Amino acid sequence: MKNSYDNEDEDFLPSESPVAVTFQSADEKTENVLRPQYLEDFQGQRQLKENLGVFIKAARDRGEALDHTFLIGPPGLGKTTLASIIANEMHSELRMTSAPALEKPKDLAGILTNVTENSIFFIDEIHRLRPALEEMLYIAMEDFEIDWVIGQGPSARTMRIPLPRFTLIGATTKAGAVSTPLSERFGITGHLEYYDADELKSIILRSAGILECRITDEGASLLARCSRGTPRIANRLLKRLRDFADVMKGGVIDTDIVRFGLEKLGIDDNGLEKQDRAILRTIIEYYQGGPVGADTLSISVGEAVETLEDFYEPYLIQQGYLKRTPRGRMVTPKAYELLGMKCERGADYADQGLLF
Ligand code: ADP
Repeated sequence: MKNSYDNEDEDFLPSESPVAVTFQSADEKTENVLRPQYLEDFQGQRQLKENLGVFIKAARDRGEALDHTFLIGPPGLGKTTLASIIANEMHSELRMTSAPALEKPKDLAGILTNVTENSIFFIDEIHRLRPALEEMLYIAMEDFEIDWVIGQGPSARTMRIPLPRFTLIGATTKAGAVSTPLSERFGITGHLEYYDADELKSIILRSAGILECRITDEGASLLARCSRGTPRIANRLLKRLRDFADVMKGGVIDTDIVRFGLEKLGIDDNGLEKQDRAILRTIIEYYQGGPVGADTLSISVGEAVETLEDFYEPYLIQQGYLKRTPRGRMVTPKAYELLGMKCERGADYADQGLLF
């Protein structure tokens, strides 16, 4: 059934109030000065960037809306940035919201009925969209209309509201938590991967230029290696190291400042934070290396399970310190090495493919 959501607010007409949305026109997006505005400034993610360039050009030349686009990847890798770049490249209006901000059908209907032709509607954390809203979104994405129920009970009637052709950009850190019917309605899917050190270095040098802070080439290389493959972290560390450099070194970020600052911030040569090491240490000391479930682990390390799963684990897994097995999380021998601890496990580790 198309409109299975409850319209709890009988008198509400969707066009009345676009709630829970931050509106930004293309040239108003100066809030984050480091955010690249166009594809050519977006570093890394080469294949995705090339493909998007083609799809955007084709849609623009045809005067059509870009197909709905699904962006998947850990936090801080550039999903929101890409959404605003797509809007800029398409010369389109951009509306942004995040799924937890959309509580009721009228929240979503209010935005959908206010989108304009060929504009971009960005929903962050789309895996957290409530099922009733998801159903409304299916129809909006596919048929460019919504069915709105006015009233309740026998006197209820349905109003069909046509929508302009728009592009939905959905972003998620957890592709597995997005229902198949929703993910199938996206025509373009992009997976964002962790950035390599060279890509992060060019992001750092670009950001240093914008922030007018001086960083040596070696300083930028070292910082890139310790930035967890993540531009958001690289930019954040750059700003903190600028503080250390301003106070201690006449404003120049060199390798000494990078080493000194990162040590003060609790970040090691591998880019791991204190909490990363605490997670690995907890699995070893309390759970003999694992397996341990995410809920139990999150309580043990005092971290929200979402943060553990979305932020910490993906990088630890990518770097080979942690493994997700059907029975839970297990550390690898590399984690024991990192912490200078002896691995007492033998045969069962070999069973899990965790050999030294
Ligand atoms: P996400 O939405 O995936 O959490 P964002 O798009 O908010 O990540 O990116 C975080 C920050 O990192 C942005 O403000 C931007 O300055 C920077 N950034 C992300 N990707 C890139 C990139 N490819 N090139 C340059 N800067 C980037």
